Amino acid sequence: IETLIVKDDAKTEKLASKPAVYVDVIRNEEIQAARLKLPILAEEQQIMEVVNDNPVVIIAGETGSGKTTQVPQFLFEAGYALKKQIAVTEPRRVAAISMSQRVALEMNLSSREVSYLIRFEGNVTEDTKIKFMTDGVLLKEVQSDFLLSKYSVVVLDEAHERQRLVFRSVYTDILIGLLSRIVPLRHKRGDPLKLIVMSATLRLEDFTLNRRLFRNPPPVVKVDARQFPVTIHFNKRTNDDYLKDAFNKAVKINTKLPEGGILIFVTGQQEVNSLVRKLRKAFPLRHKEQILERSAELRENGDEDVEEGMRTALRKKRKLKILPEINLDDYSVPGDTEHASDDDDITDEDDSNVEVTTITNAQPLWTLPLYSLLPSHKQQKVFQPPPPGCRLCVVSTNVAETSLTIPGVKYVVDTGKAKVKLYDKVTGVTSYVVHWTSKASADQRAGRAGRTGPGHCYRLYSSAVFNDTFQDYSVPEIQQKPVDDLYLQMKCMNVDKVVNFPFPTAPDLLQLKTAESRLETLGALKAGKVTPLGRAIARFPLLPRYGKMLALSHQQDLLPYTICLVAALSVQEVLLEVPVLQTSLEEKKQTRQRWATTRLQWAGQGNSQLLGDNMVLLKAVGAAEYANTQGKLERFCEENGLRHKAVVEIRKLRLQLTNEIKNNVPDAEVVVDPKLEPPTDLQAKLLRQVLLSGMGDQIARKISLDEVKEGEDKARFKYAYQANNMEEPVFLHQGSVLKKLLPQFVVYQEVYETNKMYMRGVTAIEPEWLPVYVPSLCNLSEPLLSPEPRYDPSTGKVLCTVSGTFGPQAWELPQMEI
Ligand code: ADP
Ligand code: MG
Repeated sequence: IETLIVKDDAKTEKLASKPAVYVDVIRNEEIQAARLKLPILAEEQQIMEVVNDNPVVIIAGETGSGKTTQVPQFLFEAGYALKKQIAVTEPRRVAAISMSQRVALEMNLSSREVSYLIRFEGNVTEDTKIKFMTDGVLLKEVQSDFLLSKYSVVVLDEAHERQRLVFRSVYTDILIGLLSRIVPLRHKRGDPLKLIVMSATLRLEDFTLNRRLFRNPPPVVKVDARQFPVTIHFNKRTNDDYLKDAFNKAVKINTKLPEGGILIFVTGQQEVNSLVRKLRKAFPLRHKEQILERSAELRENGDEDVEEGMRTALRKKRKLKILPEINLDDYSVPGDTEHASDDDDITDEDDSNVEVTTITNAQPLWTLPLYSLLPSHKQQKVFQPPPPGCRLCVVSTNVAETSLTIPGVKYVVDTGKAKVKLYDKVTGVTSYVVHWTSKASADQRAGRAGRTGPGHCYRLYSSAVFNDTFQDYSVPEIQQKPVDDLYLQMKCMNVDKVVNFPFPTAPDLLQLKTAESRLETLGALKAGKVTPLGRAIARFPLLPRYGKMLALSHQQDLLPYTICLVAALSVQEVLLEVPVLQTSLEEKKQTRQRWATTRLQWAGQGNSQLLGDNMVLLKAVGAAEYANTQGKLERFCEENGLRHKAVVEIRKLRLQLTNEIKNNVPDAEVVVDPKLEPPTDLQAKLLRQVLLSGMGDQIARKISLDEVKEGEDKARFKYAYQANNMEEPVFLHQGSVLKKLLPQFVVYQEVYETNKMYMRGVTAIEPEWLPVYVPSLCNLSEPLLSPEPRYDPSTGKVLCTVSGTFGPQAWELPQMEI
């Protein structure tokens, strides 16, 4: 920024209409040369003219044309960061981090000036000029400063990407709606805000033809990417085993077809790993490249003495019998050899039924995995050229569809599938299904083959399937998942009639109604207005039910537990069911038994025990933290069947939530302390009430065997429950510690469907608590003395005194303060 120079060239004149300055950026030559090859650079002047002259602009361009990395730089050079900041939102966390780093590098600026802010972390400073963030972060900022007054321009990137699998991802939709109102407001104040919506060339009409959103259709600048022709090859037949097909296709390409990288699209992390493993087995790297890769890793890990590192690597491999003694010039390593990069998360899972033999006389394949949870330095590998003599092969989820552009890809293998999280609109039951992608996605995928030259796309399905079965576009996520958090946030922003909000694609009425009624049940809304409790809930960056649990745990000795529980419940698959390491069946069985015994011990006795699987989670986290202080976390996780990454994520979330509460609720006096003593019996009881308070709409009652109809198999109903909002029975899942107790009433976190409907995150509750927390679900014969918990905003506490009758039983609760 010190090198602020007002230039006197043509460009400055053109731009002089608005910001009269041109901020010079000094880039290194190599970077500048690479930039000049990007199609968007030729459009800089046109883009900036349109931006200067219009409040809202849409930039549409193929993936890889340079939108994300270049547009923020254009804005910076045109002076948009002189007085205020430039905001860029990304739907994916990894994109926010990696793009901020890339742009900083290209501009020769530090991370103090080009920074990022995501849910868990950030490096924003007071010197920040360009700020990459997730759309959720910007939405939070709208709530504290509706006019977004610290920004001169907001760039909403990947606006087409409205279907994502990450946590709370309908933000882009609300942001666009809100910004369509903020822009004119800022204009009225004489402090204009620019809005730039960037998108692949998909569904543009959602933005341009929606008169409720923008009264005057905003101008669209199209960036023509240099796209080479891609020949599409359909399969004659559509086979079920698309992974096997993909493998065979990759083998064919590598053995028969000319030079050029391969990009394979599959549906999830596991498929990526399994295919990478097979391809590495089939086309192993030569010895030299293994060492090369190993040394690159050592260098990456800050190991200065690479020579020594290589020798160590060699020794290590020999000792582990991974590398047999071979001549350095030997062409390939025998088939049972593992790939050299032994720490890139490609663990050995049970693929033993698949025979893969090493294919000799073929080029070694530089096979890399790519998925969004892969650590970002490992993702960066796909941007580097493969070692000499190797062909690049990236196996990816749909991350590579629009977010990241991999150089040098000539062959795309498209399985045509994507993993979709399906939600039942009423119950919120989630299930993952592998489904056909859309025509638009398939075309995006094919396009990846034509970035550097003419390419080929192999579609592993027939043209008939494509034409008849594929939808044109994927359904935006806002139309698929519960919108509770969105609804509450909008109510807090005083959007009175959410139904009338200018969504680019409106969620359907049923969803909005369901959200509203769930929020009423939680006590966050009353007669359509947000309650003080609702506001307390909305302060937490979580689904309202979890927000409520935190709001009610507003008591020093309970918050750490609830924070831990909420963190653990937000992370998928903490407790493993099946050992992943390849062992014999007998060993696997023993391991599972050992895990089950430990979990029963963790569940404890008395009220602790009734906390069920959630007690197991609390103890697991506490014990893991202890193991961590001893430097034995990974081993501990392995021995006790905890997913290591999940434990790390839980810790991050706990820290984040603790800080959040500290900042928002000054009297909470929470301290960031990873240590977690097991709760006492009383605390365990209160925690059960807290869980009920958040999950009161997800109650299930044990089905007694007398209720089972004649002719039905009674044994089937041993672990069966009747949920309050479902007809089908739901079951305690296999690993649940509550199977020993079979409590009369439980609340559950989630129901998922495999062969049956199973409950996850189950806690036993006492029936007399129901009228306190979920009066709307009870049939009360006597009026309650104090039917609502009273929330006292000054102390942040919730008090209630309740007595009455519930069915034939009389009950009374002491005054509770939770
Ligand atoms: P778009 O947003 O239009 O899809 P990008 O700005 O993301 O395009 O990418 C432009 C170019 O920059 C691509 O060729 C991509 O490969 C390259 N690129 C992006 N990130 C990196 C990185 N971290 N390292 C090297 N090249 C990168
Ligand atoms: Mg981009």
